Amino acid sequence: MKILSSLREHLGLKLFLSYLVIVLVGGVVLAGTAEFHAPTVLQRHIERMQAVLGDDPGLAADLFENFNAAIGEILVIASIFSLVAAIATSIFVTRRIVGPIQIMMHASYKIAAGKYHERIPVPGNDELGALARSFNRMAEELEQIEQRRLDLIGNVAHELRTPLSSIRVTLEGVIDGVLPAETETFQGIQREVSRLQRLVHDLEELSRAEAGQIPIRKQSVSPADVIRQAVSRLEMQYEDKDVALQIEIEPELPPVQADPERLTQVLLNLLGNALQYTPGGREVNLLAWQADHELVIEIRDEGIGIAAEHLPHLFERFYRVDKSRSRTGGGSGIGLTISRHLVEAHGGRISVASPGLDQGSTFTIRLPI
Ligand code: ADP
Repeated sequence: MKILSSLREHLGLKLFLSYLVIVLVGGVVLAGTAEFHAPTVLQRHIERMQAVLGDDPGLAADLFENFNAAIGEILVIASIFSLVAAIATSIFVTRRIVGPIQIMMHASYKIAAGKYHERIPVPGNDELGALARSFNRMAEELEQIEQRRLDLIGNVAHELRTPLSSIRVTLEGVIDGVLPAETETFQGIQREVSRLQRLVHDLEELSRAEAGQIPIRKQSVSPADVIRQAVSRLEMQYEDKDVALQIEIEPELPPVQADPERLTQVLLNLLGNALQYTPGGREVNLLAWQADHELVIEIRDEGIGIAAEHLPHLFERFYRVDKSRSRTGGGSGIGLTISRHLVEAHGGRISVASPGLDQGSTFTIRLPI
């Protein structure tokens, strides 16, 4: 019973026994065939020898017996040697197959326990090698997901700390009588609370975007209408800061399949950023045209620009070029990440280019037509 259950649980034992069964069956067939054919073959040989040596029945019987015994002996010796060789070979082959599987098994236990850096050696180019490679890929993916999770927690904690400590310090000041309990003090607290609320809203939006849970209700929309609507919502703010907003839309642009609300959200984010990072007296240009089967919307500003080393990271969550400046402006570095998710959910792409600091930036959206 114990042997049966251990046979069921160990692949190595199963493989080894299956090799052994093959060897034994081969041996039995060999011995049986020799036993069956040997008398006929020997009889034929003895008859031939009798033709040469003369007809002596005693000699013939003697020869037959001796030959038979010799064949039996040879078979026994050969069987013992071949069995030993077969056992040695099957142990070697079993180890070659079971070894990598055991390594993989132990690595998977470690990964399940949270040790995501675990990797296994690739044993070759066969199926086991392919399995090991895909195992390592899976481990790498899991490690990256875990890293992103840790980063997210760290970033959220960091973002919450500043407004919360500012509120605490102000309240302590009021309680201790260091700060006057007047409207201006409370307005400061209100500003920080609003910032926290905005952050929580952005975080909710980000988590929904990253989980692909923001519903995209696509319909046939006119790009010009969506652009004009987004622009009209920011016109006042552009005027207030004295930044000129120039729009150039190619006439008769074909409609695109998009969610107008989400597209507006992306445009508001880009136009809002352009306004925030462009000093008064300068210009922001919005251009839209058709290129092949794509609608291209470009927002060019004459603002502070972006240094080359920051460009590849701009769409990463919580990424801000100048953390102190963005914080005073209320930015948390989430807007562009959400925009990227929204554009990609439409089957499009979003990119950024900038010649360098203080030379403006250009954000480009491409949507399939
Ligand atoms: P935020 O809410 O901080 O603006 P975003 O995700 O919208 O977050 O932008 C990320 C960062 O990219 C900003 O903090 C800013 O450093 C940089 N950035 C975005 N748009 C521009 C722009 N038009 N000009 C210069 N820098 C920009």
